[in-house]
Amino acid sequence: MKKHNFYAGPAILPEIVLKEAAQSIINFNNSELSLLEISHRSKGFEAVMDESESLVKELLGIGEEYAVLFLTGGASSQFFMIPMNILKDGEKAAYINTGVWASGAIKEVKNFGIAEVIASSESDQFRHIPKNYSIPTDAAYLHITSNNTIYGSQYQHWPESPIPLVCDMSSDLFSRPVDGNKFDLIYAGAQKNLGPAGVTLVVIKKSLMGRSGRKLPSMLNYALHAEKGSMYNTPPVFPIYVSMLTMRWIKSMGGLEVIANRNEAKAKLLYDEIDRNSCFVGTVAKEDRSRMNVVFTARHQDHEPLFLEACNKANCVGLAGHRSVGGFRASLYNALELESVATLVQVMQDFEKDHA
Ligand SMILES: *Cc1c(COP(=O)(O)O)cnc(C)c1O
Repeated sequence: MKKHNFYAGPAILPEIVLKEAAQSIINFNNSELSLLEISHRSKGFEAVMDESESLVKELLGIGEEYAVLFLTGGASSQFFMIPMNILKDGEKAAYINTGVWASGAIKEVKNFGIAEVIASSESDQFRHIPKNYSIPTDAAYLHITSNNTIYGSQYQHWPESPIPLVCDMSSDLFSRPVDGNKFDLIYAGAQKNLGPAGVTLVVIKKSLMGRSGRKLPSMLNYALHAEKGSMYNTPPVFPIYVSMLTMRWIKSMGGLEVIANRNEAKAKLLYDEIDRNSCFVGTVAKEDRSRMNVVFTARHQDHEPLFLEACNKANCVGLAGHRSVGGFRASLYNALELESVATLVQVMQDFEKDHA
């Protein structure tokens, strides 16, 4: 039997997706060739690109005003590609700092313009999502990070932004319905909730491309990738294919509403136990708790290694907190079953009996 996989990323994928992906490596669509040994410009792979793009548009409810790009370099490359492509020299962009990844994005602006941090939860160890701030209308865009993968906070309401809204959705894309039209740019590294590492999804309003007027290296130019249908160079064929299979799976499950309800149920089960159990403490403000990455600590620090050992014994893996924060983190991405969370909750209850 498979282990209960709580890793934060790369992370769990639906079993049926893994099986289809494995099959495609041996014999892709009965072509008697592997997906890994055919041209990215073959008919077979072009169909994968077309379907991937239309699934992204369908799931986000967006139309022709948007370009859907499958790029490389990870979400981290978007930290600089965004200001490089959008921000004019010396112009400013507004950022909300909700954690390590948001800080990473802020850091990369300085080569192209100015990042104005209009709100931050840093002084609170990123335990909440900032609420009261005003968005400067002279900034080129507002950048937010929808889900804080490391500290475990998540936007439950989007800011009403009078300027273009840019969002890093790496760790909660397609975990709940999102109206893509509220955003001017959405990006996500695939390896949290969509597919294997190696592809980064960028959804950008076409009117925003090339806004900076800057001369750009070809590979870092959104407009060129859009013009070439993400085939300016060889795209990461296998991560794109697996991401397509995951999006098909989301649809087969009943779509994002159903996925969101599953995710709510999993998160509730675990947070209720954290709040009830005398051995554990939730670290994030309740209204901002992430449905994807549940972060908690042991009330007594010496319990930490003991609990991780108990998890391992029960085949629950990937529960150590990020190396920068310690404690525990249970990632409950789309593909994780409620049964896995129930197993973890049982381990927590048994742990309390033995150690409280
Ligand atoms: C993991 C993560 C990143 C970094 O992604 P890479 O693909 O490794 O560059 C950026 N932002 C968020 C929110 C993440 O969870």
